[in-house]
Amino acid sequence: MEYAQTDRNTVRRLPIRGHYDQATVHAILDAGYLCHVAFTVDDQPFVIPTIYGRRGESIYLHGSPASRMLKNLAQGIKASLSVTHVDGLVLARSAFHHSLNYRSVVVFGRATRVEGAEKEQGLLTISEQVLKGRWQEVRKPNAKELNATLVLRLNMESASAKNRTGPPKDEADDYALPVWAGTVPIHTRFSRPQPDAKLPCGMELPGSVRSLVAD
Ligand SMILES: Cc1cc2nc3c(=O)[nH]c(=O)nc-3n(C[C@H](O)[C@H](O)[C@H](O)COP(=O)(O)OP(=O)(O)OC[C@H]3O[C@@H](n4cnc5c(N)ncnc54)[C@H](O)[C@@H]3O)c2cc1C
Repeated sequence: MEYAQTDRNTVRRLPIRGHYDQATVHAILDAGYLCHVAFTVDDQPFVIPTIYGRRGESIYLHGSPASRMLKNLAQGIKASLSVTHVDGLVLARSAFHHSLNYRSVVVFGRATRVEGAEKEQGLLTISEQVLKGRWQEVRKPNAKELNATLVLRLNMESASAKNRTGPPKDEADDYALPVWAGTVPIHTRFSRPQPDAKLPCGMELPGSVRSLVAD
């Protein structure tokens, strides 16, 4: 399936790097858990970092019912969110052609508050996105905690992906310059887990954490 290309989501600069298929958009969203949500209140734009979880064409957000972002999004106002993974520095022979290798997504949609079974499903989706398997290992939210949490479902009305891969692209004449050029890949990795000081001695790492550090 492809997201329809409209004036809103069409990549204009280097359109060859634009992608509209669901699989590409989903893969970039699924490789992260932090997005930046943009919305406007009283003619003032805001961009707020927040955790998300994707399930189908729904993106779940959560937080305090007092959050300006969530309170306003729950009114069904227009919103946009973006997720970016930086995969490497691209070092060219000229200053102008320096770049980054990256994968990014921009989503458009409106959010609605969810309750009951979908609220718990939304929280599970967010939790699984951050750390698969953790939800099954911990105490689930009680009624008081659920009351203190607002969960929204943002319906993905439209989306686009854009990515860059590969070496620098220099001007033909610049390839003769005695300047080092190439890429420096970037990898994000987890380090050794630090047990909380209040854990009983000798407690084993749970499966979710083991899977993070298995490599
Ligand atoms: C990695 C990360 C993950 C987060 N995940 C969540 C989440 O899942 N749910 C959630 O509710 N909140 C999350 N937050 C916090 C979120 O960014 C807001 O701070 C939060 O929603 C509080 O909103 P508010 O209503 O108090 O602030 P608002 O009234 O929305 O903000 C008031 C002003 O405070 C400033 N401000 C607010 N947040 C930030 C910020 N993060 N950094 C710098 N300035 C800020 C801005 O100037 C803003 O205009 C996360 C933040 C980070 C960095």
